[in-house]
Amino acid sequence: MLLQTPKSKFLRVKCPQCKNEQIVFNKAATEVKCLVCGKKLVKPTGGKAKIDTKSIEPLE
Ligand SMILES: [Zn+2]
Repeated sequence: MLLQTPKSKFLRVKCPQCKNEQIVFNKAATEVKCLVCGKKLVKPTGGKAKIDTKSIEPLE
């Protein structure tokens, strides 16, 4: 049985710059950068990460 908290989930984000897709955690405490081109995709904002990209697909 899995216990999930509604505030934490993984998101698939697509880099708007190079179209690389990667999985990020929406409560990331550190910056997440695109693994390919280094563009900043997620900014930590004291608890909940701000996803800094236009292409976000929640993982169901
Ligand atoms: Zn990129």
